[in-house]
Order: sequence, then C-alpha cells, then structure tokens
Amino acid sequence: MREFEKNIRKVEPYVPGEQPQKKVIKLNTNENPYPPAPGVLAAMKKLEGHVDSLRLYPDPTSDTLVSALADFYHVGKDQVFVGVGSDDVLSMCFLTFFNSEKPVFFPDITYSFYKVWADLYRIPYECKKVDENFHIIKEDYYPENGGVIFPNPNAPTSIYEDLEFVEDIIRHNQDVIVIVDEAYIDFAGESALSLLDKYDNLIITQTFSKARSMAGMRIGYAIASPLLIKYLNDAKYSFNSYTMNKTSLVYGAEAVKDKEYFAETTRKIVETRDWAEEEFKKLGFVFPKPSANFIFVSHPEYDAKELFEAMKAKGIYVRFWGSERIEQYLRVTIGTREEMEALFAFLREYMM
Ligand code: PMP
Repeated sequence: MREFEKNIRKVEPYVPGEQPQKKVIKLNTNENPYPPAPGVLAAMKKLEGHVDSLRLYPDPTSDTLVSALADFYHVGKDQVFVGVGSDDVLSMCFLTFFNSEKPVFFPDITYSFYKVWADLYRIPYECKKVDENFHIIKEDYYPENGGVIFPNPNAPTSIYEDLEFVEDIIRHNQDVIVIVDEAYIDFAGESALSLLDKYDNLIITQTFSKARSMAGMRIGYAIASPLLIKYLNDAKYSFNSYTMNKTSLVYGAEAVKDKEYFAETTRKIVETRDWAEEEFKKLGFVFPKPSANFIFVSHPEYDAKELFEAMKAKGIYVRFWGSERIEQYLRVTIGTREEMEALFAFLREYMM
C-alpha cells in the first residue's frame, strides 16, 4: 500500500440498480411508468427560448420550488429544504444531524444507502433486525441512541406502518433527530407530516422520483421545523450553494402544481399493484403486503437468482440483492398494466 493511501477516506459505495441503455421492461429501480405532469413539457418548451439564462447561476434559495412545495403541503417556506434527489437531502441530514458518539439506529433490511452515508461520515450505527415477516420492531428503537432513520413504507419490503406506530418511535426518541424517509408514501397511507406540529425533532423526506415521475430530474425535499431546516441550509451553503439547477426548479414547481395528474397516475399504479398482487399469488409467490410502487416477492420452489437471470435474459429487469435474509427475494417495480402482463406471461411460461 502506498503511504498516501493511509489518509484517503475510503468507503464501500452504494450500488444503484442498472440503467440499461437498450429498451427493456424496466421494473428494477422503482421509477414511475407514466410521464411527468403535462405542465412540465410546456415549461420545457418555454425554457427553450431562454438559453441565455444559463449564463447565470440559479437561485441559491430555490425559492420557486420551495414555495410550490410549501403551498402544496400547507407549511411555511422556512420548513422546506430541497436537494438533488432525496439521496442528497438524506446525505445532508446524516452529515448535519447524526453527530453523536452514540449509534444511529435503522433497520437491518432497509434502504442500503443509510449504511453507506454512516460509513462515509464515520457515524456509528446499529442495524435493528426486522422480525421474521420483515416488520420493524418498534421497541428496538427505545434504547438511547444518536438518532433514528427508517423509511415508511420500508424498502425493499414495501411494508407500511401506520401513523400510531411511527409516532410511538418518535415519542420514545425526543432527544435525538428522527428521520422518516417517505420516498414511497404517496402509494401508501397517511404521511407523518401531521406530526410535525407535535415533534420538533422530526424530519420527513420525500422525492420527485417516484409518484411525481421525475427520477431523471433529481429533486428531493425535507420538511421539518424552521430550526432544523436552518441547520440543513447552513450545511448546504457550506458544501455547495447551488445544488438545484435552473431547469429542476422550474419543472419541479410545475409538477407540484398539477394535483389532479399526480392523484390520477398514483391511483393507476396502486390499481395495477392490487391486480399484480393477485397474479403473483396465483403463481404461488409469497410477499409482505405491498404499500409502495413495488412488491417484494419470493417463491418457495424457484431460486430467486436463477429467476432474476432468466428474466433479465428476456429483457425484463427486476432487482435482486442476494444479501443476508433476502437471498430468495426479488423486488419488482409496478410498471404499466402492459409491462406487468408481459412479466406474468414470462413467469407462467417459466413455471410450466
Ligand atoms: N429513500 C428510499 C427508501 C429509496 O428507495 C430511494 C430510491 N432509491 C431514495 C430514498 C432516494 O431516491 P431519490 O434520490 O431518487 O429521491
């Protein structure tokens, strides 16, 4: 090893799902199968005539987008923080709020990026085992800790816990920051937003990548008390003042404004999910009750890795990790009805 290697900050990186450049049935990264709201295309056309504006830096406060989100969620502008996808927002939250010697708690089966940020920022952490049905055990989060984070619905399990459950964890952790990662909440149930008035240590993060069909634009946000948002902005301005580019500010605001389109596409995905659940059941798959735009399936008679590879060979991409406790599981994103029909046609043939 060269001498300089000793002082390099090394980390085992997060591995994102594949983004194949050929046309496939893409059910591997929980993207939305429908296009963004029509207002986004209109804004795109309008911007075409303003290429000169790219000479200038974007608004560092991201006011257009922050205002649109504050209106939508009926919170103050000083309660909204935006970033380059919720990954950026969550990373900033880890850096800003998880600064204790005590370990941060999160589930063992969860979004695998949490562990990576903790490692990157040298934050101690403890993974709390979910139960045999993949449910978070809330009592595990009662002991003293340096902060808590969990997604609701959880990923990759798609399990949603109700508000009472979420509140119980927050109530037991009022001396630390609790982050509820609601990347998939629009496909599930009630958001923890209503708890913000009661708990000033709560941060909720959400994204434009799933229900708002804009994974390619990279927009995420946090909603919390003005004090916590101030701390996040202080960290952001110490890192990169211009995180959000000009187009993402305009397109993001347009997407938020169209409440009907958002409700309609989300409803279609939930409908396809309900139907897909039945189809998976008919084929003998088992899975926890899904509440996000994906289903976490396993089959008692077919090896998950072999199935994953067979699907991939036919141009159907789903997600497989092969990691501890979930070796026999595949995460299947809900696509259009037609994409799902193709998936089930393949599975029926494979299982003949
Ligand atoms: N949280 C969870 C639980 C996720 O699954 C994802 C998507 N990979 C994210 C956050 C980040 O999504 P994005 O950065 O696209 O907002």
